Amino acid sequence: MKVGVLALQGDFREHLLSLENCGVTGLAVKRHDEISQVDALIIPGGESTTISKLAKTFGLFELIRDRISSGMPVYGSCAGMILLSREIIDPASGQDSFGGLDIVVRRNAFGKQVDSFESDLDFKGIEGGPVRAVFIRAPWVESHGPEVEILASVQVSNLSHPVAVRQGNVFATSFHPEISGDFRVHKYFIDQICSKAQK
Ligand code: GLN
Repeated sequence: MKVGVLALQGDFREHLLSLENCGVTGLAVKRHDEISQVDALIIPGGESTTISKLAKTFGLFELIRDRISSGMPVYGSCAGMILLSREIIDPASGQDSFGGLDIVVRRNAFGKQVDSFESDLDFKGIEGGPVRAVFIRAPWVESHGPEVEILASVQVSNLSHPVAVRQGNVFATSFHPEISGDFRVHKYFIDQICSKAQK
């Protein structure tokens, strides 16, 4: 199974290391032919506006959007979640998303860079105790359609905000497991989504 990590911008190297820790050799991909050939794709954290603009500049936007809508397993962390959303609240000008998840996301929902934080989250489908989650100018899911499964949430002022979601083969977290050293989220993607999609 070829798992690509979109390497236009952001922390794609950390995702490659996380995959390595799960026993999977990922491929950094940024060319049309490379993205056409992967079986699954990870969209890293970084800056969603920049990733969306670079994808358009390099003629990759439609390819990625079409591969996702044809069922390719995909995982987006943080900026990657924004890029998988149906709608973005507060988008930058010229910012578009690939879609795949029937969610509306709020960018920078938890505040500015200085409001970044870490937390331990109960994660549906992941065993062995709470998952360590690092939030850096993270989005949250503001609303979602009926097919979206909520896997983890964060409480802010008595309100629960989804921060990990899945819809079929499309999976996203608003936090960065690739930098926490907790590789169970990548393992979940590989075992529960990629491996099952191949059968
Ligand atoms: N705030 C960033 C954005 O809008 C995401 C931050 C991140 O990926 N850590 O794209």
